[in-house]
Amino acid sequence: MIMSISPTPFTATVLGLPRVGPNRELKRATEAYWAGRADADHLHSVAAELRHTHLSALAAAGLDSIPVGTFSYYDQVLDTAVLLGALPARVADIADPLDRYFAAARGTDTIAPLEMTKWFDTNYHYLVPEVDAATQFSLNPAKLFAELAEAEALGIPARPVVIGPLTFLKLAKHAVGAPLDRLAELVPLYRDLLTRLAAAGAEWVQIDEPILVTDLSDTELAAVRATYTELASPADRPAILLATYFGHTDAALAEIAATPVEAVALDFTAGTTVDAVASVPALSRKLLVAGMVDGRNIWRTDLGAALSTLGALLGSATRVAVSSSCSLLHVPYSLTPETTLDDRLRSWLAFGAEKVDEIRVLATALTQGTAAVAAELRTAHDAAQSRRTDPRLHHDTVRARLAALTPADIKRAPADQRRIEQRAHLELPLLPTTTIGSYPQTSAIRLARAALRKGEIDQTEYVARMRAEIDDVIALQERLGLDVLVHGEPERNDMVQYFAELLDGFAVTDNGWVQSYGTRCVRPPILFGDVTRPTPMTTDWIGYAQSRTTKPVKGMLTGPVTILAWSFVRDDQPLADSARQVALAIRDEVTDLERNGARIIQVDEPALRELLPLRTAEQPAYLAWSVDSFRLATAGVADTTQIHTHLCYSEFGEVIGAIAGLDADVTSIEAARSHMEVLDDLNAAGFDLGVGPGVYDIHSPRVPSVEEITTSLNAALKAVPAERLWVNPDCGLKTRGPVEVEASLRNLVAAAEALR
Ligand code: GLN
Ligand code: ZN
Repeated sequence: MIMSISPTPFTATVLGLPRVGPNRELKRATEAYWAGRADADHLHSVAAELRHTHLSALAAAGLDSIPVGTFSYYDQVLDTAVLLGALPARVADIADPLDRYFAAARGTDTIAPLEMTKWFDTNYHYLVPEVDAATQFSLNPAKLFAELAEAEALGIPARPVVIGPLTFLKLAKHAVGAPLDRLAELVPLYRDLLTRLAAAGAEWVQIDEPILVTDLSDTELAAVRATYTELASPADRPAILLATYFGHTDAALAEIAATPVEAVALDFTAGTTVDAVASVPALSRKLLVAGMVDGRNIWRTDLGAALSTLGALLGSATRVAVSSSCSLLHVPYSLTPETTLDDRLRSWLAFGAEKVDEIRVLATALTQGTAAVAAELRTAHDAAQSRRTDPRLHHDTVRARLAALTPADIKRAPADQRRIEQRAHLELPLLPTTTIGSYPQTSAIRLARAALRKGEIDQTEYVARMRAEIDDVIALQERLGLDVLVHGEPERNDMVQYFAELLDGFAVTDNGWVQSYGTRCVRPPILFGDVTRPTPMTTDWIGYAQSRTTKPVKGMLTGPVTILAWSFVRDDQPLADSARQVALAIRDEVTDLERNGARIIQVDEPALRELLPLRTAEQPAYLAWSVDSFRLATAGVADTTQIHTHLCYSEFGEVIGAIAGLDADVTSIEAARSHMEVLDDLNAAGFDLGVGPGVYDIHSPRVPSVEEITTSLNAALKAVPAERLWVNPDCGLKTRGPVEVEASLRNLVAAAEALR
């Protein structure tokens, strides 16, 4: 019944490509289209040009199987929803397919977009497909076939890529039932797709099932085997590469191995071991696509170590190909435009283009022997050696300070006692009002920053302009009658990059952009060495702001976990060790702020949830060290000093206990959209500290009315006594306009005053 097919094996590949363009060309073209400054033809031609460049570069670099279809105008999960006919009914009336697609991604005046959430434990966000009674799956593969045809016309050894049915359904939001309830409807569509891809000339197809690196139930594991047995049963199909990434496949590995798929991709940079492969003998009949080159981080691969792993794998698999561990979507394009990194640091790095070359080198060593790439292996060896011995990676003072810490260093006095002392010290009214930190980034701020960068103004002039912004923001808050003020963060381009630029042990890139979602790109700093703080980073700004008012101004810092989550991190020591180093630097800043007169200091941890490991078994250890690093950063102050934190999401789930563990005197959280349910969850977790559930949603330009805010506050007061409740928006205000901000905050203050 099951027909065997014998495809040509390949030796060197990547699992997917970035798409924004080396200079963010797609971002610019897409935003021009949205703004009506360019038409769809322009956008399509920029996209086609980028695909052409990307594919040709990979072929020229020596890869012998090249993924196609990982291009996207916005997001690959949204593309899969289109492929499967699963866009929500509310966009169906939009006739133009591109506009319909963007409406699902971003919404319109009248249509709500799909929700967005994190792609596994990466910093990429995907759009969450909605599956409900109205969803009638159907196959719409035009995009994939067009891209396949393009690649074939270029003579590229193309391997179409799709997200698999299990991952799609598990990531979707379901109106009813369990995620895999609709699997039986999807499998025939995928079968049909495979047949058509074979007819279009595809010899291989890659089906991505990253969900296989998460905990699966026995029923789900059985579905893995059944689905891929079924998909592999027709003879007129391409060979199937079942791709997993971001972790180890654990119990799913035996299920995959038992299916007739021809190849399996496993992530050896994220937990897959040679032993795990050896323990599943059925894998030996397949092509093993070994993810040896880390697709998520920017370090040069230790090629020697990778070759010994590959050699060991050859003991358990007949054929081994070399690959990136995941799509190259998550790393910058190339080191070439980086001109300011020092040579040593640069020699330790590999961005996208350099990673492709590493894959070529490893594959060549496997097929032709190491002599064929002796020079490349030597360079990699020297770089690894230079990195191991660089003094910037081993700062004795920091290490000695960390080694000398005791449990007392991360423990403050009991919360009740602090509450009493802070009440006397701060003299705040009941239901104190405050904001989360940033105020609108005005064009004056952007112009000043650009002028400084271009050398048109000097540092003194820049500081003067930022101080003028602070004056305005303080005056505004005084006028509005807020109780706890902020300086507005005008001097910060980004809440992580700002600190990375001031701390030793971090480097920043000129052009190291990676897609965060849609057209939004970020430039994560590189944490490469031991972290130290050469000078105070925020005291002058906060001190200046405090000099303009008698009300307390919050010191404003980013927490260690968030700094790590939004950076490329060291891979030569546990993340927990890096977190402690960052925490120590923040601790020094916290105590300097206190010494300088700050009575309240906020340490933001919006990313606490993001680094949560995918496997349940690994979560408690993470939560323990992340909580400890926050406490290390914040516990160095007197009982009279009030520590605030801000968390940026409303689905707390597994981290709810950790929030209490942070032991911050006041926690502000995003709650406007979750109707304060989060407060009940916090109570259930034994949380009894100050809390400011956001009383309105800053993600929308609407001005909330006094009544609306009062309703929010009354709901909150059902769960939290007035003595613990703070009144604040649900996040920073930097993306909002000044007019709406002023109107919204006026209503917020009015609501709090009326309730008092
Ligand atoms: N203090 C930061 C701000 O107000 C917090 C941002 C965030 O939550 N991501 O912008
Ligand atoms: Zn926030």
